[in-house]
Amino acid sequence: AVPLVVAVSTALAASNGLLIRNRSAFEQARKVQAIIFDKTGTLTEGRFGVTDTLLLAQDIDKDTLIKYAASVEANSEHPIAKAIASYEDKLPIENFKGIAGKGAEARVDGKEVKVVSPGFLREQNIAMDDKRVDELKAQGKTVVFVLIDGQLKGAIALADIIRPESKQAIAALRAMGIKCMMLTGDNKQVAQWVSDQVGLDEYFAEVLPQDKAAKVKEVQSRGILVAMTGDGVNDAPALAQANLGIAIGAGSDVAVETADIILVRSNPMDVVALLKLSKATYSKMI
Ligand code: ADP
Ligand code: MG
Repeated sequence: AVPLVVAVSTALAASNGLLIRNRSAFEQARKVQAIIFDKTGTLTEGRFGVTDTLLLAQDIDKDTLIKYAASVEANSEHPIAKAIASYEDKLPIENFKGIAGKGAEARVDGKEVKVVSPGFLREQNIAMDDKRVDELKAQGKTVVFVLIDGQLKGAIALADIIRPESKQAIAALRAMGIKCMMLTGDNKQVAQWVSDQVGLDEYFAEVLPQDKAAKVKEVQSRGILVAMTGDGVNDAPALAQANLGIAIGAGSDVAVETADIILVRSNPMDVVALLKLSKATYSKMI
């Protein structure tokens, strides 16, 4: 039988937007020593806007660059893609392919167009040493690159908004003695910038979707109990690996099915509420 105090807490949790799918994980929540947050859509709103367009070749203009990029991205669900695809003037495409955690590609206007991450450029040994790109990254912006037929043609910078509650949640968790970390596929400068804004203990940048669970395992191997909070399809294996998997917001169906706890709202302060409720519930039983 479920002790009354637990049943009451479960009901209380639900009325506060915390859905407990795994009761033993909820019990473990009070002992969590580290929380790893996903960046995009968790600590940030995951709603990007294009802020700058840079040309990195002579034979193209900004309108063409963004038009080609927008045409490719119209077929991707990624928050970066949605921002780029909001450019109205688009062309029909063929052979769209997503490159997991790295970008997307398609044939546009008879050319092979790719929109990719800085990590993808490094992997392909494509040189990029434009100072303007570093300046944009230092401002906390996410930068993606446009390749046409394998040639680097330009860069698009985007900005996301840090959730106002993120800083408050991290301060509260750290006051409870919990280490706060962030896991992201985005570049190091953006990760550093977000870390400075919200006051994290540690972050891991440019982590590919398939490597996120291994990072959680690495933190667990320090001998600590780890919670992971994320929203995306990318995060599902990491949520499963963590001692406590917390899906935030509407999220993806996969994340929701893998998580131990679902936070209905997209508010990082609900993570604090969850841990406090676990402590309150199980301390009453001892
Ligand atoms: P996060 O961990 O922040 O959710 P992802 O793993 O989804 O990030 O993506 C990591 C990086 O891969 C992005 O910052 C971007 O550089 C690149 N990327 C992924 N999908 C796309 C896309 N559709 N268009 C352009 N870049 C993309
Ligand atoms: Mg994500």
